[in-house]
Amino acid sequence: MAQVTQSLATVIEEFSKLPGIGRKSAERLAYHILRVHKSEALALADAIRAVRESVQYCSTCYNLAEGPTCTICSDDRRDKTLLCIVEQPRDLMALEQAGIFKGLYHVLLGRIAPLDGVGPDQLTIDPLVERVRSGTFREIIMATNPTVEGDGTALYISNLLAEYPVQITRLARGITTGSILEYTNKEILADALSLRQKF
Ligand SMILES: [Zn+2]
Repeated sequence: MAQVTQSLATVIEEFSKLPGIGRKSAERLAYHILRVHKSEALALADAIRAVRESVQYCSTCYNLAEGPTCTICSDDRRDKTLLCIVEQPRDLMALEQAGIFKGLYHVLLGRIAPLDGVGPDQLTIDPLVERVRSGTFREIIMATNPTVEGDGTALYISNLLAEYPVQITRLARGITTGSILEYTNKEILADALSLRQKF
């Protein structure tokens, strides 16, 4: 990188750390940043700074939030008797876009994956049990991904919650086993939700 300035080399280096961005793409993006209007380049930098400084996890459900509580938890119109458990905030977004679920969520921030060294303690399972213990839920919907690890996580949680007076259901298997919630189209997701089965 002798031929580029230090700051350009740094930008290329940072871009190449992004998922799916190789060295060539990183260079292309860096030169693009130098070509566009300065205000446009700085708007990107500001947006990255703002999202990292303002977005945090909701203290109740672990969805992404600007402030201590997310927009779903603070929405009085949501049905507080229904709780849908998902792995990641982007799974929650996919279900929201399907537009038929009106209850609350709990985001695990992962799934139990022994091979990757992820155990129940690294997920938000303790606060989930606490919510169910003290909450008003009558139904818990398992919406973990239909993978071996997602199913294992759902089973683990349903065993933990078995002692509470709630019905536990899971999404119908309209979703092809192994496919990931966030890539499943809205109609299939809506069907999976409305045809949910007893766990
Ligand atoms: Zn929330």
